[in-house]
Amino acid sequence: MTPTRFAALTLDVEDWWHLDYLRGRVEPGPASSLGGVEKFLLLLAERGVTGTLFVLGQLAARVAPVLKEAAAAGFEIACHGWGHARPLTLSVDDFRRELRSAKAEIEDVIGQPILGYRAPCFSLDRPRLEAVRDAGFVYDSSRIRVSGHPLYGDLDMSGFTEIRPAVWRQEDFFEFEAPTLAIGPRRLPISGGGYLRMYPWALTRAFLARHESRDGFFMLYIHPFELAGGPAPFDRAAAGLASWLRFSIGRKTAASKLARLIVYFKARGYSFAALRDLRLEFMAMERRR
Ligand SMILES: [Zn+2]
Repeated sequence: MTPTRFAALTLDVEDWWHLDYLRGRVEPGPASSLGGVEKFLLLLAERGVTGTLFVLGQLAARVAPVLKEAAAAGFEIACHGWGHARPLTLSVDDFRRELRSAKAEIEDVIGQPILGYRAPCFSLDRPRLEAVRDAGFVYDSSRIRVSGHPLYGDLDMSGFTEIRPAVWRQEDFFEFEAPTLAIGPRRLPISGGGYLRMYPWALTRAFLARHESRDGFFMLYIHPFELAGGPAPFDRAAAGLASWLRFSIGRKTAASKLARLIVYFKARGYSFAALRDLRLEFMAMERRR
């Protein structure tokens, strides 16, 4: 039987000092969280599942060997912009330039075309979504609907059809939205690494059970620092206690929760795929209808 439920595991390949809440508070030092990239790849590969890496153009050359190995093993390499500037803080023209240079750099490093884009901090609006499409990407994954988050953009999807929950299509261009859970008038985040770290597993499990549907789509977005292990690579006093806690909470259990998430979805018959392949799969399913 062809699977009808899909899970996409994605990693935003950035270092700890790209985090918006640490920028300007602590200076980047020699310590890096990029070891988390290999941990993510290994954890998935050991369980026979694949995923998508959204890479910053600025880091592509530095992690080139890992990216090439990942691409050869069937992982998808996609784009997370150049240096983690929030697109809504850039003019549309500057954003277009950034997209072009990041895409070219990553393609140069891995020697394959890059098809997907995710905006830092889900910071995207419709004019910038059109810029993503104009730059030659065939899908975007920068939409999230969460009540009252100060940084996230508000991406207007007019003209798109929601072909299954959180998956949008306009012609052959797709938007993979990060799923959230509607509870009354509010929407709770359930798909981020931060929430995976913060919620006890029993709560995540309860949220996932409520989120499930016959034609389900789940997407996780997680970051290298969440899986890298070790102590926080910056000074607690300089960062401030709130930022330090936000960074540190649940980092010890993130990898084991990710493993449990994979077991959870496998047990429910979900198929794991890179977003570029899901796009093709959904296009084929629509043609068969
Ligand atoms: Zn990011």
